[in-house]
Amino acid sequence: MAKNKVLILGGGFGGIKTALELSDDPSMDITLLSDSDMFRYYPALYRAATGGNMKAAQIALKEIFSGKQVKLEKGTAKSLDRKAKTLKTAAGKSYKYDVLVVALGVVTNYFGIKGLEKYSYGIKTQAEAKQLRNHIHKQLVDEGKPDLNYVVIGGGPTGVELAGELPSFIKFVMRKHGLTKHKPHIDLVEAAPRLTPRMPKSYSKALASRLRGLGIKLYLNQAVQAETADGLTVSGHDIQSHTVIWTAGVTEHPFLGANKFPQAEHGKTLVDDHLQAEPNIYVIGDNAGTKYSGMAQTALYDAAFLAKNLKRQAAGKKPRRYRPKKPIYITPAGPFWAAVLWSRVHLYGWAGWVMRAAADYAGYHDYEPWWPAGKHWAAEFELEVTCPVCSRG
Ligand SMILES: Cc1cc2nc3c(=O)[nH]c(=O)nc-3n(C[C@H](O)[C@H](O)[C@H](O)COP(=O)(O)OP(=O)(O)OC[C@H]3O[C@@H](n4cnc5c(N)ncnc54)[C@H](O)[C@@H]3O)c2cc1C
Repeated sequence: MAKNKVLILGGGFGGIKTALELSDDPSMDITLLSDSDMFRYYPALYRAATGGNMKAAQIALKEIFSGKQVKLEKGTAKSLDRKAKTLKTAAGKSYKYDVLVVALGVVTNYFGIKGLEKYSYGIKTQAEAKQLRNHIHKQLVDEGKPDLNYVVIGGGPTGVELAGELPSFIKFVMRKHGLTKHKPHIDLVEAAPRLTPRMPKSYSKALASRLRGLGIKLYLNQAVQAETADGLTVSGHDIQSHTVIWTAGVTEHPFLGANKFPQAEHGKTLVDDHLQAEPNIYVIGDNAGTKYSGMAQTALYDAAFLAKNLKRQAAGKKPRRYRPKKPIYITPAGPFWAAVLWSRVHLYGWAGWVMRAAADYAGYHDYEPWWPAGKHWAAEFELEVTCPVCSRG
């Protein structure tokens, strides 16, 4: 009997999990198409940008799928021919499918703010994290003192975790190079009146108090208007800086718009209660317009749900309905401290940090057996501060 051709787009949290969950079903012929050979473990990127071991932030797809019945293909998904059930890549290669799973993630959005794309740093890829880390290190060594201001834009979880880790990284590099006389200034700019605006007020308050305690100046209710090579304009006043980090905006992957998928709220893709956007085309993770879209936990949950349903359908059973699952929110803010919201339970401090460490281990273990997962997890706690300029004497 001919196998069911399942083509999965995107080698991230959702795509990989879907492929892994389906790989033991002999009725499926699974292909995973991604534009990268690596799985980016986003939750470790803020650490990688502030001196953490880069190994924790990515895993080779080959390693994850070793011994699994999944074909790995490298390419950039571009266009769909729905009638012919064919996907074409940017390089012109075609893939046939019976079932298509779209898990392409989101892309950075600069909202058209002048100068931002050109001058700001980001932490959405390992390369970006490395670039930021090297810039901070090189600038400290070259100028012998910290930047006037390090500015993190965005008071969401990514901005908070990065800002929280910056003071200890900067101080560490300064100590290493004997630069102890200057104090770094770190600012965090958020357009909403509070940090993590989608979370309960008490959660935002605890994070704000923690960041202030670490010496970080918060600019709340302040919108970034423009950036130049020497600083930012924020709600009409200027902040001088050569280190501006943009964490504030993402938008739906352009593949969905270009291929005319209908939109749900917030520009995400409309899906039904089987995560189906069209007959035989499923959209999961960050791309799907579901209640808790935008979290790795949701992408994992969607993938496991979809894989189960595809297996049920292959076995002639009725598919189940999707029920959104509320994630556990854990936001680290500086060494050994994290805020946790788990259903109605709030937890702050060291216990939160331990929960985050446990959640990270579980995150790696979702993709790898316990030993390699343990190695990637342990790398998160290692320092890897290689000086990008010291060799020139
Ligand atoms: C810095 C940062 C920290 C985060 N921290 C957390 C956290 O602590 N906890 C949490 O729950 N969530 C966190 N998130 C959110 C989480 O990472 C996402 O919700 C999750 O990655 C979504 O999974 P996905 O499969 O939808 O997309 P992704 O994981 O982004 O995967 C998309 C994949 O598609 C590939 N791709 C893109 N375009 C193409 C193309 N045209 N053709 C082929 N392949 C393509 C990409 O290379 C990538 O492999 C964080 C995000 C960021 C940016």
